Amino acid sequence: MSCSSSSGSEEEEEEFESYRKGGYHAVRVGDSFNGGRYIAQRKLGWGQFSTVWLAYDTLTSEFVALKIQKSAPQFAQAALHEIEILSAIADGDLTHSKCVVRLIDHFKHTGPNGQHLCMVLEYLGDSLLRLIRYNRHKGMNLNKVREICRCILIGLDYLHRERNIIHTDLKPENILLNSPIDPSKDPVKSGFTPILERPEGGNHNGGGVSMSLIEKKLKRRAKMAVARISQRRTSMGVAQHPKPERSLEGIDVRCKVVDFGNACWADQQFMEEIQTRQYRAPEVVIRSGYTMSADMWSFACTAFELATGDMLFTPEGRQGFTDDEDHLAQMMELLGKMPKKISSGGARFKDFFDRYGDLKRIKRLKYWSLDRLLVDKYKFSEENARDFAEFLCPILDFAPEKRPTAQQCLQHPWLNLTSNDTSNDKKLTAGMKTLQI
Ligand code: ADP
Ligand code: MG
Repeated sequence: MSCSSSSGSEEEEEEFESYRKGGYHAVRVGDSFNGGRYIAQRKLGWGQFSTVWLAYDTLTSEFVALKIQKSAPQFAQAALHEIEILSAIADGDLTHSKCVVRLIDHFKHTGPNGQHLCMVLEYLGDSLLRLIRYNRHKGMNLNKVREICRCILIGLDYLHRERNIIHTDLKPENILLNSPIDPSKDPVKSGFTPILERPEGGNHNGGGVSMSLIEKKLKRRAKMAVARISQRRTSMGVAQHPKPERSLEGIDVRCKVVDFGNACWADQQFMEEIQTRQYRAPEVVIRSGYTMSADMWSFACTAFELATGDMLFTPEGRQGFTDDEDHLAQMMELLGKMPKKISSGGARFKDFFDRYGDLKRIKRLKYWSLDRLLVDKYKFSEENARDFAEFLCPILDFAPEKRPTAQQCLQHPWLNLTSNDTSNDKKLTAGMKTLQI
């Protein structure tokens, strides 16, 4: 299983070539599944392993997300594991209040490309990654950030304490809002009439695969031509409208943790390398073993990204260094030197560190504390920066066992602060008081 999963967005489409034996199942609007219970409405997204469709559940008259796995044995194996984890998650969440996606049903579907395991999940909205982009990477109002953090922590606390599960790939892309940002995309709110059978003739595929290869090529070519024209216009100084301001006011930011394709039982780990690079905990980089607290590290990276619009760590293997070295250097620049007691516990100690516990190859580090970073680069007020850093820093402890648990984080006073600014906390003038309720 890959940990740096790439998945579907409006801009990209899944590989056409993957619709073959062992690969994706081609779906058309109106196709029915599981003996006619579910009917495909439109495509929602895709991942390396699956395509996900909005479907109508004729039994409950509800919209659901239908995840159809590729059919080759390794994908089927991965789906079985995901179903096992999702079933355990659903079994303990009878009130649907734990901020984790709910598995409703699962079954096999046989098509021309083989037998596909299918998961029926509750239908959710856009990912936090989309929300960050929608907000133009500006950094969200801290009250929104708090609300989102509370949901993620409720989800993690449930997974960790009640289910003994490590998610291992927590990041904005894997946290979905309960409903879409754009209400017109919400089939319930927009009063969407479910399609019950395959439309005659036409290509009502909602971005599916019944479009022919030639049609796809033409569409792509047309898109590129449009892109070229707008690029030319912009470079000539025409049509350079500033992007309009967008407000998150009124957007319901309650959300749930999804994508358990890489999750594991805390006592049955089978992968050394987990997590998507930018959200990867130091113990995973140095190979000293991980526990639930690796998810907490990813949580802190995610919270920072929501509040600033930028990723906390962006290792890129600059200047001939490896991604791992660059990553460790960035962590130390922000959090101070990694104690030798910790670094020397990693199987990869000798790859990265000298005998004093300093990085072997990157010698000059530019130390910058988290609260200074928030003030200097992200223009937080002193008070907001201090409060937020007090919440985040303990979670970013190099010592995994010293990090607070999700349960402890839920008790942190920062989650119960209220900023008295409705637009963007960054604009709070220094000295403006934060109210405590
Ligand atoms: P994979 O395991 O193949 O990576 P994911 O579970 O990440 O598949 O799902 C792929 C995409 O489908 C997601 O990025 C998201 O856009 C969409 N999606 C997944 N689950 C849901 C859901 N419950 N509701 C709405 N959209 C979903
Ligand atoms: Mg995925």
